[in-house]
Amino acid sequence: MRLILLGPPGAGKGTQAERLVQDYKIVQLSTGEMLRAAVAAKTPVGLAAKEIMDRGELVSDEIVVSIISDRVEESDCANGFILDGFPRTIAQAEALTALLKDKNMELDAVVEIRVDEGILLSRIEKRASESAEVRADDNAEALKKRLSVYKAQTEPLIEFYTKTGELKTVDGMQDIDQVAQSIKEVLS
Ligand code: AMP
Repeated sequence: MRLILLGPPGAGKGTQAERLVQDYKIVQLSTGEMLRAAVAAKTPVGLAAKEIMDRGELVSDEIVVSIISDRVEESDCANGFILDGFPRTIAQAEALTALLKDKNMELDAVVEIRVDEGILLSRIEKRASESAEVRADDNAEALKKRLSVYKAQTEPLIEFYTKTGELKTVDGMQDIDQVAQSIKEVLS
């Protein structure tokens, strides 16, 4: 099973990805987490990405495409994977289509978790207040930026994957278990 999880920051992609990992025995590939690890390890990629991430902007397509291209070939991806936070631009989506074709891998579905915009800020604020290690980009200013970046750069992917016939939309305003159930239904 190879999936993309699509949705704005705070939609619950990470939470749902964790469920899918267990249910389908696949791995979660979060470019955000990989980049945060690179920042923590002070690798060249991490050093280049840190300030961009702190501002809530997107790191270059080149960097994330190359990370994902290498990552999907690793042995733990043999059973499948969930892309969480990738692709985030049309250019990334086109690069993903090309690289999967190159590797003879097929995508099973793109799952969009749809939520009302109003709830996102309160969800992220809650995450910031509950998390022991607050993310540098979990503050009101960076969140606003991340939402506007999502709208401008990532939302067009909904039309992109509607056209390819791969998009499945679930209602992300339900509680966590119900969202998980809805995802299972659209995948079956
Ligand atoms: P996330 O954990 O998915 O919210 O990602 C955190 C931050 O990492 C984003 O705000 C971006 O700065 C960066 N990032 C993660 N994934 C991507 C991507 N696919 N393209 C560009 N930047 C990304």
